[in-house]
Amino acid sequence: MSGMIIKEIHVYAHDLPVKNGPYTMASGAVWALDTTLVKLVAQDGTCGWGETCPVGATYAEMHTEGARAALKVMADVLIGEAVTPVTLRRKMDSLLNGHNYAKAAVDIAAHDLMGKALGVSVADLLGGAVTDRVPSYYATGVGAPDDIAKLAKEKMEEGYPRLQIKVGGRPVEIDIETIAKVWEQVRGSGVQLAADANRGWTTRDALRVSRELQHVPIVLEQPCNTVQDLEKIRGIVNHPIYMDENSVDLNTVISAAGTGLVDGFGMKVTRIGGLQNMRAFRDICEARNLPHTCDDSWGGDIIAAACTQIGATVKPQLCEGVWLAAPYIDGNYDAENGIQIVGGHIQRPTGPGLGIVPDESMFGAPLASFGG
Ligand SMILES: [Mg+2]
Repeated sequence: MSGMIIKEIHVYAHDLPVKNGPYTMASGAVWALDTTLVKLVAQDGTCGWGETCPVGATYAEMHTEGARAALKVMADVLIGEAVTPVTLRRKMDSLLNGHNYAKAAVDIAAHDLMGKALGVSVADLLGGAVTDRVPSYYATGVGAPDDIAKLAKEKMEEGYPRLQIKVGGRPVEIDIETIAKVWEQVRGSGVQLAADANRGWTTRDALRVSRELQHVPIVLEQPCNTVQDLEKIRGIVNHPIYMDENSVDLNTVISAAGTGLVDGFGMKVTRIGGLQNMRAFRDICEARNLPHTCDDSWGGDIIAAACTQIGATVKPQLCEGVWLAAPYIDGNYDAENGIQIVGGHIQRPTGPGLGIVPDESMFGAPLASFGG
């Protein structure tokens, strides 16, 4: 495939205001997100799109300007490279240590381009879709117990198979009351529950939540700040623990899975470095029978399509859903095949590559262009 050599790279910025904002987590609130898009153009003119959009600067060790600076460090040298994801990842690693979230945008674009050149979907490239109706889950935001319980009931009735209750960053009594009130609304429905403190609880708080809510079958997602905190509470809580923010690379995932530190993961495609690493992560989890999500922190149709394509390949019993920012964003990049959540599920676009083609006139002139 000599046509699949990178000829040009273009980097775009696009503003995504939060619908009915702000979106709240233990670490803060966001009103609008500034997403970064990457377009790869191959020698034969085939294009592929990638996207990375940190949800503010305090959620993870990533931020918007960091992604753009990292892309600038790598882009010139990537011109002339093959779009094949493994060689591309090694090349990027030889140019810049870390910065997975920036590399992910290039990796996603390479998958899209390769799929479009070969006439197959990204899910096919990743091993094959097991479903075209991918389960999603709803994240509530941190809110008053009665409001969140009402919202949880609405989302359950809408068809979401799983709900994630955001907690943390406030007195833990309110978190306990919130989870208990949500459980009253959903018990007996089969809806799965996670409480996501986004690193916001002390180990003291997590122990208290687990003790006072022994009767509630809830997953504690990234309850505390560090791996050491999780180790400390692991043997003494009554609830499963999932790791999200701490799983920053495949090495950490292997250790957490191999030592039995966690019962599952919340995973972000950009945090792990893109779809190539996500595929390895999926297979490690399957080998250890660990459920996980396939999310991203924020972004539009491109990242949403990437998450949906990998989510569609996960063994159904282990698929905890694909979280998308779509419900919080007005409009789509692709008016025809743009990603939507309907009845708590996402229809996988089955066209070649990511299955979507963004209307690039929405993004204006590129911030930076390389090659050509
Ligand atoms: Mg999480």
